[in-house]
Formats: sequence, C-alpha cells, structure tokens
Amino acid sequence: MSAYVNRGTPQQAYYHRPGQYTAPAPQRPVANVKDDYERWYTEILPNNRMALSVRSGIHSEVAWALDRLCRLGGNEQFSYRSYPGLIDGLFDWPEWYVNEGYKEVNESQELFGPSKDFDAQHRFALESLLILRNIALQDSTELQNHSHTISLILNGLHNLDFTKDKNQEALLHIIDIFQGLAGNLLINASVPDYSNPIIPLTKIIAHSKNRSLIIAAFNALTGVLSHPGNALHFSRTKESLGAAIRYLPLFVDKALLEPCLEHIYIHVAHPSSARVFLLNPELSSVLKVLCSLVLSEQQATQERVTLDITPQYRTVNLNSGTTARNYELTAEDLENLSKSSEPHRCYEWMRLVLAARQDAEMTQVDIWTLYKETFTPYQEAIPLLGASDVIKYVTHVYPSAQAMVLQGPTQRFIVRGIERRQQVTASERFKCLWDRSACSEAAFSSPADLFDHLLEHLGSLQPPALPCLWSTCQHTCSELQHLRAHLLTHLPSSQPQARHPSQSETVTVAPGTYDINTIPPTNRPVPPIRNATISYERPIVDPSSAALTALLIIRVLFRTAFASSEVAPKADADHFGFPGVVEDTSDPNEAAGTDPESDKEGERRGRKAFLGVRHMLQNVRLRDEALMSWVEEMVDATMPELN
Ligand SMILES: [Zn+2]
Ligand SMILES: [Zn+2]
Repeated sequence: MSAYVNRGTPQQAYYHRPGQYTAPAPQRPVANVKDDYERWYTEILPNNRMALSVRSGIHSEVAWALDRLCRLGGNEQFSYRSYPGLIDGLFDWPEWYVNEGYKEVNESQELFGPSKDFDAQHRFALESLLILRNIALQDSTELQNHSHTISLILNGLHNLDFTKDKNQEALLHIIDIFQGLAGNLLINASVPDYSNPIIPLTKIIAHSKNRSLIIAAFNALTGVLSHPGNALHFSRTKESLGAAIRYLPLFVDKALLEPCLEHIYIHVAHPSSARVFLLNPELSSVLKVLCSLVLSEQQATQERVTLDITPQYRTVNLNSGTTARNYELTAEDLENLSKSSEPHRCYEWMRLVLAARQDAEMTQVDIWTLYKETFTPYQEAIPLLGASDVIKYVTHVYPSAQAMVLQGPTQRFIVRGIERRQQVTASERFKCLWDRSACSEAAFSSPADLFDHLLEHLGSLQPPALPCLWSTCQHTCSELQHLRAHLLTHLPSSQPQARHPSQSETVTVAPGTYDINTIPPTNRPVPPIRNATISYERPIVDPSSAALTALLIIRVLFRTAFASSEVAPKADADHFGFPGVVEDTSDPNEAAGTDPESDKEGERRGRKAFLGVRHMLQNVRLRDEALMSWVEEMVDATMPELN
C-alpha cells in the first residue's frame, strides 16, 4: 500500500483538524480473553477495526473495511466522523489513483486487460470515492475542512481523461464531492489554470458523451459560478454555455434540462455577462426555445372555462294567428273603477292591468306612472294614493311579487314577479288599410273576407279617376277592372310567411315594458344576444421549476435589452418583481469596463429577438398574477409600433 500512496507528498502527515477536536478519552478496556471473541466492528474506539483495516495496505483487509463502510452509508445513525483517522484513510486510494494509478489506464491495458492488482486497487479507489461522496452529501463541512479534499478534486479533474471508460465513475464521484463545496469556493484571478476547476469542468460539459457526467458537471460549475466573486471567470465558460444552449430543446429530459437552465440563468443573472449574452448569435433561438418550454407545459396544465354572459331577455311567440299586447282599460273598466274608493280601486286596477309571472320584473316608476296616468283625470273625486302605497299594494294583490333594489352602476328600484297583463287579440294581418289606413273596420280572419270588404270601398269611387287608396299606394287606374286586379297585390298571402330554418319560433326582445306590436323592430331597444358565451383556457397549476427558471431568464434578458429605454418596467410599487428575487436596481452602465457601443448593439439585437417571440409570449398564461404581469409587460413593451 505505502508503495503507491502519494509517495513523497509531504502533506500526507498533516491532516487538518477542526480546532475544537478532542480525541475521545481512551477507555481502559477490560481484556476479554475468551476464545473466538471478536470486538464489534462499529465500536467507537481509536483502534476501530475498520479505521485500522482501511489503512493497512492488506488488500483483503481493505476490501473488508470498504465493504462494511459502503453498507453502513445507508444507515442514518452511522457517522463516519466518529472514528478518528477513518476519513483520512478513505483519501488514500483515491489519491493514489488520481496521481499515479490513472497512468496505468493506457492502450496496452485496454488490449490485454488490467492486472489483478490494479483491478483491486481501482475498485478500492472507487469504493472510497463513493463513501467520501456519501459523506459529502451527509455533511459537507467535514470534507470542506479536510486539507486533502481540494487537491484530490483538482488532481482528479485535471489528470483523469474523461473520454476513458475506466475514469467515468471516479470522475462522477469527484464532481459530486466538489459540488458540495462549490458554492463556497472563491477562485482568484491569480489562480493558475492547473488549479482552476472551471477549466476541466467546462471541457467535460462541452465534450463528454456521458449524460450523468454532464449533469454533475453542470451542477458543480453552476455552483462555483454562483459565488459572486467568481464572476470574472465567465469569459472561460463559453463552451459550457454553448453546450447548455445545445441541450436546451431536450424538454423531455428534465434531469438534464434543469441544470442547463440553471447554467444559462447564472450567466444572465450577472449584469455584465447578461449584456454579453445579448450579443450571442444564438440569442433569438434561445428565447424561442425558452418560450416554447413555458408553452409546452401549459397545454397539459390548463382547463377550459366557459362563461355564460347572456343578459336578461324575454321572448315573444311568433304566433301568426293572434298577437299579445298590453291590456288597455276599456271605458267599462274605468267606469267600474270610478265607483270604488281607494285602496280598493287600486287593488281592482292592479288585478286588471298587472299579472304575476315568476321571472318578470317592472320598475317601480313604471307602475307608479301607469297608476298616475290612469287616475289623474279623476283626482277631483278620489285623491291619488302616494307612490310608496301603490308599490306596497302590489305585494298585497300579488303575494309572489317582491319590491327590491338592484345594486349596480346605477341603483334600480324594481318589483320582481309581475308584468303588464297581456291581451291576446286576433292577428292584424288581414286588416283593411283603405283610405290611407284610416278604415275603421276590425281585422278580418281571411284574405277573402278582406277582399269582399275592399270591393265595398271600390263602389264608393267615382270614375274616371280611380286612385288606389291602400295605405301609401300611389297607383291610379283608368278602369275598375284594372283596379280590382291591382288590389289583389295588396292582399297578404293566406299562408303565414315561411320562416328560414335557422329562425327561432320566438322573437328576442330586450327586457322592459313596451309593446312590441306597436313599435316597429327598428325602433325597439336592441335585443341582447340569446346565447352569449365566452370560453377561454385557464391555468390550474403553477408552472414547474424548469418553466419558472426559463421565465426568469426571459425576464432578465428583457430587462437587459430594454435597460436604457423608458418602457423597461422596474420593480416598484406598481410592478412586482420575481418572488424571492431581489432585482438589481443599480444602473447597469455604472459597471466598470463596459463598452457603450457593444451595449447598444446588444440592446438592439435583444429587442429584435424579443420582437420575434412576442407572438409566443402572447399565448403564455400563468396562474400567478405577479408573474402574469411580467409577461404582459414584455408583450406591451415589444409592440411593433414602439420599436
Ligand atoms: Zn276598409
Ligand atoms: Zn295600390
């Protein structure tokens, strides 16, 4: 064992220990002298068997210890740090592999297969790395403070060739361990390239064909770049950014998509690198893909809402034989009414002119006006009732009626449940219109009767002048024979007019009290649409984290592209920012080292790209109002007339 492990590396002897660390007080073991007695291997003692075995260099012992430790990793009660020297021992084999062992992975080994010894040692290295990775996941501070961690990671990343199969697993573990520390790692500008983990990670992302390795490297690299002090390294991540853009359309592969989105976001989150991103030739494609991502989820997570906004309307039967009109008091009715005194007169009057109908309504003013107009001529004999009394008596006469106030833009005082009594009269289709419509004869029941009646009118005409006096007709005949023939053109057909198949049997009229028989259709209030429904799609769940990240990237790019323009909305009292994100309100032009010319060009390209995705943004629907207001702002700001 000692023949391989970092021979000549001086730091081997100096392991970092946290300041407060105190070795557990050695207990005085009572010697157990029984035959075949063996100490339990998880006993927390300085001479724990696993801790000693892992460093022994005896292959069978190392294999046993690593096997135990791998299994114990699944036990939450178990803590590796409780055994002094155990974690130090776990570094031995990985360090051997990343410094010396990897050299044996060469062409001759691929051809003839590795030696038995190498195979065992390679396995020890992998098992140790797996355990270290589990420790990093459990408790990252333990490895953060360990003096060998960084050198192991750097040597691993730089020395192991990621294109070789033998190295894939080791690299994956190393990158996983690194990910735990990445967020706290500050890499100065003076750090030489061979100590800079960003360079090998970028290469792995850009050129590896191993999906797991790419995902792990994305996470680790994004972790390093999320440290604000590492912003100066953005110039070195062109390749990884290119790879993230390349993998972006793989919507189905969520595990790969999310690290790609995070990686792009970390680039645009920094103002200066966001401005550089605007100059990226892929910008408009990236925006389109991001919008497609948001839209692709939307279809599955929205419901169709149908809203019935049909206003109140009433229908009148298209009855050809009879017509209904408001009942008008006859002279006889009026005489009877004048005999009774109030309030009986009012009761009687209501029974005559009003009728109960469940869904009808009349305004209180209409009822009062009707009462007043009817009885004002008689007020000398019987004084009129007050308006409130009249309304009150409606509910006496019709208990189902109800006086109420409808709230709305204008308050309406109505009585619900009553209407004007309708009087059914014969149709006026066969009414005589002779003498310019002044003929007083009642309507006839058939065209034959009407024609017979018309012939009587003709008898009173004096030849030679024979004008047609039907309604507004200007025709004049010289012979009676001709006039009789002409009159036939005025007679309505005996059959009712055929309706168009799509025409309803009823006529829609606007609510209110007016007589549709006396008012021609063009003078009536415009009737409402009978079936007015609006249907639209509404999101039922919030978008996934991937879609939210995509939206966040779109938003940051938008604000960068429209930074110098008035239309760029800032987070203020009226405009919400992204929940949980503090928007950078400082003037981006203040940042040092910016080139105003290239910034201008970037903004120009950015706006052009946003113009290209406007139609996609218009289709985005989000449940969250604050997020939806973002999308609306972006759609408004990219209106073609403004740009
Ligand atoms: Zn007549
Ligand atoms: Zn005529």
